[in-house]
Amino acid sequence: MTYIAAFDLGTSALKGILLDRQGHRTSEQSLEIETNYGPNGEVEQQPEQWWQALQTILSIWQSTTPERVKAIRTVTFSGQMEDVIPLDSSGTASTAILYSDTRADQEARFIQSKKPFLSNITGNSIRSSTPLAKLLWMKKHQPSPYQYAKAFVFSAKDYLIYKLTNEAVTDPVTAATSGLMDLHERRWSEELLSDFSIDVNKMPRLLEPEQEAGKITDKVSQWTGFSVDTPVLCGSGDAGAATLGAGALHEGDLYLYLGTTGWAAAPTEKSANKIDGVFTLSHLPEGTNISIAPLLNAGNVHQWAVHTWGDQTKSPYANFEKLAAASPAGANGVLFLPYLHGERFPVMDPEATGAFVGLHPAVQKSDFARAVVEGLCFSCCQVIESLSEKHEGIMTVIGGGTRSRVWTQTLATILNRTIRVPNESEYSTVLGAASTAFISMGWVEDYAEFTEKYIDPQGAEVFTPAQENQETYRSQYERYLKLYPSLQGTYNN
Ligand code: ADP
Repeated sequence: MTYIAAFDLGTSALKGILLDRQGHRTSEQSLEIETNYGPNGEVEQQPEQWWQALQTILSIWQSTTPERVKAIRTVTFSGQMEDVIPLDSSGTASTAILYSDTRADQEARFIQSKKPFLSNITGNSIRSSTPLAKLLWMKKHQPSPYQYAKAFVFSAKDYLIYKLTNEAVTDPVTAATSGLMDLHERRWSEELLSDFSIDVNKMPRLLEPEQEAGKITDKVSQWTGFSVDTPVLCGSGDAGAATLGAGALHEGDLYLYLGTTGWAAAPTEKSANKIDGVFTLSHLPEGTNISIAPLLNAGNVHQWAVHTWGDQTKSPYANFEKLAAASPAGANGVLFLPYLHGERFPVMDPEATGAFVGLHPAVQKSDFARAVVEGLCFSCCQVIESLSEKHEGIMTVIGGGTRSRVWTQTLATILNRTIRVPNESEYSTVLGAASTAFISMGWVEDYAEFTEKYIDPQGAEVFTPAQENQETYRSQYERYLKLYPSLQGTYNN
């Protein structure tokens, strides 16, 4: 029996699985990752913690099933994107500036004014989250780390690949978020590198997701337990892996991802989207793209609510589910705007904050819990409606948020459409990442064959809209749409 090892380094956790040729998943492990927040929009993680987490998963596998570790033939990854991770001369990085970090706002404005038609090259407009803006911020505010970085990588998984192979690489899905890739050609834009004086020698090699980044060396083999010469693939930014893991390969296959952050996305043949705030990223199969509307507030807000309103004993999530279910549809009139982290779509406002409205003396704790779930669903509804094409029919929803049945059921009712949640969909992204190894091993010919054999046949739970709550939610949604415009004047911008 041989295996491939696939890892997804998300915002909240590193997940690792082993898969055999039949697609049987074993040895699932997940380790939490910490995020640090600063007063000026700083959002950072420690790359060495990612590396520690990888080593911990490997040592668990070594001590429980060493024969499986020996039988790993390929290693692949997916990971959070839009990070800036400077690799120093010793091959480590002390800090990763995360995608949600907003410190580079001024630099983003500068880029927009200097290069107003940049999106003709990259397919996307520039924001403070864009790595190019963060690189310019570093040049100005941290000149030494910038100057002495031997390379930059832009996805958390690129760091782990670097630690395993000593190769600085990235993939087109990740690179499409960098502000420096020519989306049409899937390569770095010489024009943009030159216009913004970014040293091409510091850029990672751009490889296709199924291409090999390097091999496990003798030294790394001793630390990790991987056999010497095991190929490590470039893998994919998490949006690409999740899209594949949701089985979305064809134009218009809309799906919703509810992770720490979230998105609504669909493969597209277009190379740019006209809707402001909607990204166009490369997809895994060459020549295809993904149209993606990002939500900064999703599982992170759910998690906050669980810890704020749920019972702090053994099972806070289960407790929160009960609490939210105890309040009627419409949360007793309470409405919640979920913009705790600012928002990127459909409103673009890093200064936005969250709000509860509609409070009155009969409001109970359970109404707050229900209002949070409903607010998150209204936000998804607005995002889906704001995407240009009219999407109808059954919609797939994946990500850790789908472990909340109250959330998925409320979503089906508020969207008034049937949704399907693939079994154990919190593994959809890592399964999508695994496709790259299946191709590289020759186990499947292409991504279409992978989805046909390993994604489509997965069972799914189906949630249908509750008709009796349609009227309540229609009027709550109308009120919800007025919330942000009404509160906008109270923010600090
Ligand atoms: P990412 O990979 O983007 O970090 P995940 O796909 O793992 O995120 O999803 C994380 C989210 O899953 C959490 O923010 C939370 O909303 C939800 N979640 C995690 N565990 C549970 C649980 N036991 N019950 C319900 N929801 C959960």
